[in-house]
Amino acid sequence: MIFDMTSENETSSAEQTEQSADDKSIICKICKAAITRQEDRVSIQGQHCHTCTNPTDITYTIGCFRAAPGCRQIGPASFEHTWFQGYQWQSSVCAGCGEHLGWCFNNTECFYGLILDRLLSQQC
Ligand SMILES: [Zn+2]
Repeated sequence: MIFDMTSENETSSAEQTEQSADDKSIICKICKAAITRQEDRVSIQGQHCHTCTNPTDITYTIGCFRAAPGCRQIGPASFEHTWFQGYQWQSSVCAGCGEHLGWCFNNTECFYGLILDRLLSQQC
């Protein structure tokens, strides 16, 4: 009986898959729920960040995102005092804790303007 020990097929396929999805999440500063992602950042009217002042003289710095799955919309949509011509806005709050995080702007398409101060891991 001969044991053939020469046919060892070593298939060493060390695949390195990068998993860095989580650190691209942008989260609620209060409850740490995932709100949106870095890759959902969009430029509206040429820039991602906008500084906007509302009729009661409060100034917000908002970043624009094409999606914000962690937000839910409350209240009626309105064109009144809108910051983006042609877009109606609706308040967006954190679905986790209810903190007001920004607004959803709707025209033929919609985007979210989120208050960067109220989010973590934001880059402006
Ligand atoms: Zn929250």
